Parts: sequence; structure tokens; C-alpha cells
Amino acid sequence: MTYKAEYIWIDGTEPTARLRSKTKIVADGAEPPTWGFDGSSTNQAPGKASDCVLKPVFVCPDPIRGGDDVLVLSEVLLTDMTPHPTNTRAKLTPVAERYADQDSWFGIEQEYTFFKDGRPLGFPAGGFPAPQGFYYCGVGADEVYGREIVEAHLDACLAAGLAISGINAEVMPGQWEFQVGPAGPVAVADQLWVARWLLYRIAEEFEVAATLDPKPVKGDWNGAGAHTNFSTQAMRSSYDAIITACEALGEKAQEHIAGYGADIQHRLTGMHETAPWSEYSYGVSNRGASVRIPWQVEVDKQGYIEDRRPNANADPYVVTRLIVDTCCSALEKAGQV
Ligand code: ADP
Ligand code: MN
Ligand code: MN
Ligand code: MN
Repeated sequence: MTYKAEYIWIDGTEPTARLRSKTKIVADGAEPPTWGFDGSSTNQAPGKASDCVLKPVFVCPDPIRGGDDVLVLSEVLLTDMTPHPTNTRAKLTPVAERYADQDSWFGIEQEYTFFKDGRPLGFPAGGFPAPQGFYYCGVGADEVYGREIVEAHLDACLAAGLAISGINAEVMPGQWEFQVGPAGPVAVADQLWVARWLLYRIAEEFEVAATLDPKPVKGDWNGAGAHTNFSTQAMRSSYDAIITACEALGEKAQEHIAGYGADIQHRLTGMHETAPWSEYSYGVSNRGASVRIPWQVEVDKQGYIEDRRPNANADPYVVTRLIVDTCCSALEKAGQV
């Protein structure tokens, strides 16, 4: 007997990589093996030397096919078995390892937008719906578009064993959010990539496209982000550590902005619940700051912070690497670990 393994990988498209996948039939009892693909069709290799290697890094049940079938998230290697230049996971793992003793947790809020017939789901042909105000966490056919897809995606993530922690309708019609975490930096990023693949795959069944475009509609409509909630063991027990992390993020603000997703300047305008990309700030309860300290965290004098800057199209391997590197090194230097 055999089972189906859907190999999923991240391609080399610039400036925002896309997901690819293909199926391998594997003998029962065998682990999904190392495999390969044509890198000349994914912006990862020239035609004359087109082979790239797929190395499985995270395997989970396939909730779409069911049975013994699996999803196999893979990282891309060159044929000498070194990481491909587009392999951002390979750049995260040594940083995560270096600061593993600080026990970093991440919860990422993935916002996205459904499109059908070239416009957001719920937008009328050739025009605009009523202005924003009632869509966020709304209910009813006049406010909510695509809920059956969202519910199917949530069930699929749960069946796959992903650490999905919630869903909600967003501020613009056709816009939604799911959250993954809390989990460590590598685990949260692996699971977010698989959850994104499941989103595209399930929306396909409904003939709807899901997009992570950070600003899908210009004008007075919210963009789509990937707010990244973060804590270390020290932050979960000390307010000084929370402030150290917020200050450290300010020191490296430009480096973080550069790694938080293409077209971030279009989303972080200072309007629509964002802080301007060029001015770093942090504050308690402040959804207009770059980094928010939740009010409960100030009361408890411990907990986590929310970096509100990452775009919906950000690479979670890059975002978690930057945050761990910046905050954990600062906490270490301050003697607060
Ligand atoms: P918001 O109020 O900004 O919409 P959400 O409820 O959508 O926040 O998301 C918060 C995320 O933060 C969840 O994924 C949650 O699991 C995560 N989270 C909660 N506590 C921590 C923590 N101590 N460290 C890191 N992430 C956390
Ligand atoms: Mn949220
Ligand atoms: Mn949101
Ligand atoms: Mn948030």
C-alpha cells in the first residue's frame, strides 16, 4: 500500500515568494524522502542546471485528502545539500538555536483578503460597498463575505494539528484573520506557511483567491498585516524585560522594516491603525504605535508585546529571526535573562 505526500515549498519569486506544491506517492511505512523539482520554473535555478532539492522539515496530516495522506513542508537546498539562497528558514534556525535558552514564543495574526472576479469578495461590480465600520467581527449577509471558506480553513488547520488559536472577520469586507501560536520561532513560521497553503487550497474549492497583498484596495480601506506577538521567559515575568525589548526594536527599526514584507510603506502610513513606517514608537494599548504593550501586560507587569508592523505578505522566517536576534541579544546584554 501507499500514501500521498503533498510536498510544499517556498519559491524564489521577488519581491514576495510564493508557495508551490506537488504530490509524491510513498510506500506505506516509509518516511517522506528527500525529493527535487525544476528550479528553472520557480525563479530558483537556471535552465542549464535546474535541479533543486526538497528536504522535508515539517510533516502533518493532510486534512484535504484525509486517511494516511500528509503535507510535507520542505526547505530548498542546492544539489550540494547546502541551503538555497532563497531558503530563509536556514537563516532562522541558527539564531533560534543561539537564543533557545530564552524560550521565545510567537503568536502571528495573519490577515488576508478574498478576491473573486478581480475585486474583493463583497465589493459590488464597478463600485464600492458601504464605508468601513461594521465589517470587523461582523455578522449577517450584508457584512460578512466568505465565512464558509474561513470555517473550512479553520477545521482544516485543526485537523492538520496546527497551533491555530483563532479567527475573525476584519475591517474591510472580504478581509479576514487567523492566528497561529503561541509557539517557538521555527514552529510558528513552519505552521504559518502550511496554514497559508491550506488557505489558498481551500479557497480554490470555492473558486475564490486568497491574497496576502498588504494594501489590496487603495484609499480609505484597511491594509492587511501580520501583527507578531512576542515574549521570552524574562518578558513573561518582568516588565523591565518588556521595556528592554521595546527599546531594542527601536534601535533596529529600519532593519526590521526592511524585512517585514514588500510594499510596507504603502500600508504603514500612520492611518488605518498603523504607525508611519519611518517613525518607531511603542505604547500601552496603542493601536497607532509600531509596538503595542497590551493593557493587561501593564497591569500584570509581565507578558508579551505586539509588533504591529509586519505586513500580511511578510516571511515569518525573517520576521521571527529579526525579533529573536534584536530582543534576545538586548535582554542578554542587559543581564535580564
Ligand atoms: P489582537 O488583540 O491584536 O487582535 P489576537 O488575539 O488576534 O490579538 O492575537 C494574539 C496572539 O498572541 C495569539 O496568537 C496568541 O496566541 C498570542 N499570544 C498570547 N500570549 C502570548 C505570549 N505570552 N507570547 C507570545 N504570543 C502570545
Ligand atoms: Mn487579531
Ligand atoms: Mn487584525
Ligand atoms: Mn493585533
